[in-house]
Amino acid sequence: MTSYLFTPPAVQSLPIRGKTERFPINRIFCVGRNYHAHAVEMGRPVDKSVEQAFYFTKSPQTLVESGATVDYPPRTNNYHFEMELVLAIGKEGFRVSEANAHELVYGYAAGLDMTRRDLQLVARDKGRPWDTGKDIEQGSVCSEIVPMPGVVIENGAIALEVNGVTKQSSNVDKLIWNIREIIADLSTYYHLQPGDLIYTGTPEGVGAVVTGDKITGRVEGVAEIALNIGAAQ
Ligand code: MN
Repeated sequence: MTSYLFTPPAVQSLPIRGKTERFPINRIFCVGRNYHAHAVEMGRPVDKSVEQAFYFTKSPQTLVESGATVDYPPRTNNYHFEMELVLAIGKEGFRVSEANAHELVYGYAAGLDMTRRDLQLVARDKGRPWDTGKDIEQGSVCSEIVPMPGVVIENGAIALEVNGVTKQSSNVDKLIWNIREIIADLSTYYHLQPGDLIYTGTPEGVGAVVTGDKITGRVEGVAEIALNIGAAQ
């Protein structure tokens, strides 16, 4: 048995609807700018005919479950919500065709890709990595995983409220790169593995939260999500 100098960090995991086993998390991938109206509000419209999808990652250690109260994070004055459909990978795949992409789907969840928007935009405009803007402790929020093996979600309302006021309201049929295209394309960069999560991008209406705010959201036919913003440390 391997002996470690100190206790290794725990495997991150999420509950699975209808099961006692939990879904162990391998990696967290995120799709950038995947709804036209959000790309426009970020000042970077997307022309799919000449652009490729792009991705960034967040550490599994940033994951928190829906319903949590999280600290308002340090080094930001503009902490944003991004409501997203999350895809949970259940089978390994490399260079998967769009036609076979559904075989990798274990299920889906509702997620929040929390973002230090001030730091992200400085990094973007200086051509620097986004890590401090995106890879935030307690900044990857996810609902339970809903088993839907082999299912390709093509539509469904996606919405988010802050303190009961609607901020984001769209439909996942507006994804620029859809579920099949994301799996096929991402699998040309990575050997996708069971336990990988893919946050598929956020619609328009992103905005800031402050201490005391309560975020609620949902993806129709999948799951609901909630997050409470606590005080800064
Ligand atoms: Mn996002």
